[in-house]
Amino acid sequence: MDPTDISSWLTETDEQKLAGLWSLADRIRAGHVGTAVHLRGLIEISNYCVRHCAYCGLHTGNTSLKRYRMTETEIIACAETAVRFGYGTVVLQSGEDRGISAEWLAGVIQKIKHSTTLAVTLSLGERHPDELKLWRRAGADRYLLRFETSDRELYKKIHPPTGSTRRHRIEQLAAIRELGYETGSGIMVGIPGQTFASLTRDLLLFRDLDLDMVGIGPWLPHPDTVLGAESLPADNHVPNTDLMSCKVLALARILCPDANIPATTALATLNPETGRSHGLERGANVLMPNLTPDRYKKLYEIYPNKSGSTLSAEQCDHIAKKTIRALGRKIGTGQGSRIKTTPAIGSTVTAS
Ligand code: SAH
Repeated sequence: MDPTDISSWLTETDEQKLAGLWSLADRIRAGHVGTAVHLRGLIEISNYCVRHCAYCGLHTGNTSLKRYRMTETEIIACAETAVRFGYGTVVLQSGEDRGISAEWLAGVIQKIKHSTTLAVTLSLGERHPDELKLWRRAGADRYLLRFETSDRELYKKIHPPTGSTRRHRIEQLAAIRELGYETGSGIMVGIPGQTFASLTRDLLLFRDLDLDMVGIGPWLPHPDTVLGAESLPADNHVPNTDLMSCKVLALARILCPDANIPATTALATLNPETGRSHGLERGANVLMPNLTPDRYKKLYEIYPNKSGSTLSAEQCDHIAKKTIRALGRKIGTGQGSRIKTTPAIGSTVTAS
């Protein structure tokens, strides 16, 4: 698939042709990662953040948000819930919280790894290489860091640099991979200012980075953010719809046949009835049920009305398993790491 093919799929409106895209993505998914849908238990360990991201409700300037940080005991209890539900992975996610010290988190990771067979995925934003190294040594298996957009100008606008980290996340991903983490990245679809050309580059970059995990979801406006308060540009703007997100998801599966790709919470938020199942039928093979304790999950408000934020962990688990069964798919067992079925393609695309 070359850039022209990708661009024309992104603007395709013919339903029959799109049905062909969904079915191609679904066949590639079945051929490379099989029928299993892996469940990753999401634990939102802190909503503190030092960043000023223009899209995210956790940004440091949002003074109306009550902040929390989970204790070790609370995190371990969530990991035990993941085991009880039969999951193979927990994802520890947070804002960029300097209050999470490297040593403290290393201890938490060690405890989870000693007492369970769970894979541990971290999604904590941009952290110092020494911290990433310590956590890897403590047993963390995977790291998720979405590059959000490969368009450098747009990236700078939506993700203003802080004093410590000025490099584009694309460069930071290489360091994460070198430490031996399974490496995940991704984007939001329909950020104001995103063009079809940059979206095409994003997709090619997924392939060229040889990502183990690819996360794609629609941008959802949060009123207490810079982007959420802006009116949207009309022309050549990528829509933040479920259809557009599904096109990007399907194309990501075609370009990264053996990657683990979730039907994201953002997709389920945009379309609570069909978001998860559409995602799973159009290339995805992972769901991330929310295991965050009830008193915190509403406060992890990266965007409003996040799917699962008013439900218990049991209810989130139930919905995920029901969705998988209704599609005739199997619930994944074990850690569900990436199994490479295709050789990596050399890196040819960089940020524009
Ligand atoms: N601090 C971590 C985790 C952030 S939340 C980090 O920056 O990596 C994980 C992802 O949620 C982000 O990478 C972003 O792609 C997505 N996200 C944040 N705000 C969003 C919004 N308003 N709409 C849709 N997705 C959003």
